[in-house]
Amino acid sequence: MTAKILSGKEVAEAIKRSVAEEVKKLSFRPCLAAVRVGEDAASAVYVGNKVKASEELGLISLHRHLSAETTQAELLNLVDELNKRDDVDGILVQLPLPKQINEKEILEAINPAKDVDGFHPINVGRLASGQDALTPCTPAGVIEILKYYDIEISGKHAAVVGRSNIVGKPMAQLLLKEDATVTICHSRTKNLAQITSQADILIAAIGKVGFIRAEHIKEGATVVDIGINNVSDADLARELFDETELEKRLRTIEKRGFTLVGDVNPKEAQAKAAFFTPVPGGVGLLTVAMLMKNTLQAAKRLRESRVES
Ligand code: NAP
Repeated sequence: MTAKILSGKEVAEAIKRSVAEEVKKLSFRPCLAAVRVGEDAASAVYVGNKVKASEELGLISLHRHLSAETTQAELLNLVDELNKRDDVDGILVQLPLPKQINEKEILEAINPAKDVDGFHPINVGRLASGQDALTPCTPAGVIEILKYYDIEISGKHAAVVGRSNIVGKPMAQLLLKEDATVTICHSRTKNLAQITSQADILIAAIGKVGFIRAEHIKEGATVVDIGINNVSDADLARELFDETELEKRLRTIEKRGFTLVGDVNPKEAQAKAAFFTPVPGGVGLLTVAMLMKNTLQAAKRLRESRVES
């Protein structure tokens, strides 16, 4: 079997198009405030992509970049200011934050109605109790991919490997909401392959290069790879990619020093699964699109609730 590749690009573009169309019909422009603290290079790229996407889709973006020495009180003040501003609909504080900052306290200070990352305990609780919530963008994007490609979730056995608060746990909750039978696996799970090889839908959110191998995958399953890892070793790349992909990957390593690889061994998944999300080009592209969708949702609710009150 050769798996059909599920294109995150195609799904992300469809979501962005629909957000842009809806924004055009509004009498106001939703505004996303992105806060970055310090000089983390990856964070600068992520926030840059979010600002760029906001502007492309007709949203207003407010970018606040604070120094690495910012104190807890200063960051709390900024969050408070953004919470109070009626023209700001979504607030995201890019993680990780410098060590002097208590991340939990900052995330909990964001108004849950503006919490477009879906990390506030109110949104976590709402999701867990089956209520409408702003949900974390990456797992929400996975559900969009599955739906876009008409992959049935209801009644299927879904195994999620990884139980982090930002990916694994909300992923499991979202699958449960879609009526899947969900198993959550983690580093203490015994007989992992025995469990995951029974799953119709297998989601990997582990943070380990090519960890999910053929033995973990049920023949004909849908395998969703959330992992994003850098591989700079050409020999490792040779183990992960078939000859059609390898050339390109080796050139990327030569040019950029690394190539992006997920938590699933792509060569083995493609030979055994029916559907597979590639890295790059899969789930990663959905995250920004879902952030735009969450901002639009937050904006509509906030502004409607103000009209009603
Ligand atoms: P994380 O917080 O490090 O969590 C990793 C999870 O994997 C933990 O629950 C851990 O179990 C589990 N795990 C580790 N080793 C395992 C093993 N040998 N067997 C079974 N489970 C194991 O990572 P994360 O933030 O959830 O991210 C996971 C991956 O997704 C990373 O590659 C990250 O880069 C990627 N990611 C991608 C996006 C995107 O936009 N596509 C967004 C966020 C994250 P324990 O809980 O027992 O330690």
